[in-house]
Amino acid sequence: MTVLVFLDPKFPEGRLADAAVPQLMATDLGATRGAGVLESMLAVDGAPRKMGAHLDRMAASAQALDLVFPERESWERAVSTALSELMIQAGPAEAVVKLLLSRGVEGAGSPTAWVAASPVAADVRERSAEGLAVLLLDRGYDSTVADRAPWLLLGAKTLSYAVNMAALRYAKAQGADDVIFTSSDGKVLEGPTSSVILAVEEDGVKTLLTPELESGILPGTTQRALFDAAEAAGWARGYGPLEPAHLMEADAVWLVSSIRLLAPVTSIDGTAIASSPALTEALTALLRGAL
Ligand code: PLP
Repeated sequence: MTVLVFLDPKFPEGRLADAAVPQLMATDLGATRGAGVLESMLAVDGAPRKMGAHLDRMAASAQALDLVFPERESWERAVSTALSELMIQAGPAEAVVKLLLSRGVEGAGSPTAWVAASPVAADVRERSAEGLAVLLLDRGYDSTVADRAPWLLLGAKTLSYAVNMAALRYAKAQGADDVIFTSSDGKVLEGPTSSVILAVEEDGVKTLLTPELESGILPGTTQRALFDAAEAAGWARGYGPLEPAHLMEADAVWLVSSIRLLAPVTSIDGTAIASSPALTEALTALLRGAL
C-alpha cells in the first residue's frame, strides 16, 4: 500500500490523494522527459531518518536541473501527513518515503511535488544479507567529466533512472545481483542505487574508504552517516580514487543506501572477495545508532 500526499499551496499540511487512481497529468514533464528529482528516505516507527540530509541533496539536485524547490517546511509537513496516515492504515515498523519533484505540466510553469510513503518490503534486506554477486560495468564517462559537463547531471538524483535500472537488469541477466559502475579511466564509482564502501586495515588502523565525491557520483547520505558514526567509534576514513584492485584486496566491500543499509558484496565479476559478517553487523549497529 502507498500513501500519497501532494504539496499544494491550498493545503498547508499537504493534500492526501488516492494512490490507486491516476493523479499525474499525462503531459507532466516528469513523465514525458524524466525532468525531475527524487529522494528515497527511510522512516522508522513513523519518524523520518536523515531528512535534513535528504532535503539538502534534493535541493542540490533541483538546482542542477534549474527546478524551483518548494520550501523545506512544506516537504516536512507533507512527509509528516503521509507517515501519520501510513501508520494509521498499516503501522509498519519501517517505511520508504519518496520525495518527488517534477518540472510540472508542460506549459504550466509550476512544478509538481509529492510524497509517497509505503512499508519497507519484508525481504528487502534478506535478499542482500547473504551477500551480493556484483558485476563491474563501465558507465562510459571519465571520472573528471562531472565538472566539465554539468549538463550530464552526474551527482544529481534525477527521475531519469532508466540507465541505472537497465544496468541492474543486465547484471541480473548474467546471473549477478547488483552492479558497481566504473569510469572509462578505470575508477570505481557507485552502484545504480547505492554507494560503495570498503573496509581495510593497515598497521592496525581500521579505515573505511569510498570513491571521491568529485568523480561524478551521488553523495550518499548513508555513506556520510556511516562515516561520521565510524569516525566517532575510532575508524579512519578516506576518499578514493579507488580502482577495482582495491575492491578485490579489501577486507570487506558493501553497497550502502538508505533503505537497504549495508549490503555485503561477496563476489566481483565471478571472483569471490573477502567479506566479514562481524564487520557488517558492527557497522550496521553503528549506522542504525546514527539514523
Ligand atoms: N548512489 C546512487 C546512484 C543512488 O541512487 C543512491 C540511492 O538511491 C545512493 C548512491 C545511496 O544514497 P543514500 O545513501 O542517500 O540512499
